[in-house]
Amino acid sequence: MEYVLLGGSLFVLVLLLNFFINYKAYGKQEKEWKRRRQKREEAAAKGLLVNCPLCNSPLYPGEDLFTRVYRPMSVSDQLCIIKGCPHCYPRVEEGLKRECPVCHKQIDGKTGHLVAHLFNKTSDGKKHVVIAGCNLCCKSKLN
Ligand SMILES: [Zn+2]
Ligand SMILES: [Zn+2]
Repeated sequence: MEYVLLGGSLFVLVLLLNFFINYKAYGKQEKEWKRRRQKREEAAAKGLLVNCPLCNSPLYPGEDLFTRVYRPMSVSDQLCIIKGCPHCYPRVEEGLKRECPVCHKQIDGKTGHLVAHLFNKTSDGKKHVVIAGCNLCCKSKLN
């Protein structure tokens, strides 16, 4: 009888411990979600792109687009090309499509890119990106 009682209390103890560990893990995960959400909201508030303009994947801070800026950073209107994000460049993830938001043509993973203007707004300090098109529909504007 004593053994049964001991076993029972041990069982309860294990259950409690399990619950405690799970609870802690859940709290950690929730914290991580909150942190990511907050970071994303901060990025959105700064006027940064939060979705890849090519494949439309949501981008978290740290997942930067592959871009090349042509003119010096000091000018207010910079020309840049966007090669893609970590999800679609250099390799396109399964289920994703690289499409030009202007002409809706498929953009090649290796040679294709988007042409964009990066405006450094001085009045409120926000950066503003305007997609002009892809290398196919924007050729005339580049030269
Ligand atoms: Zn992308
Ligand atoms: Zn295009």
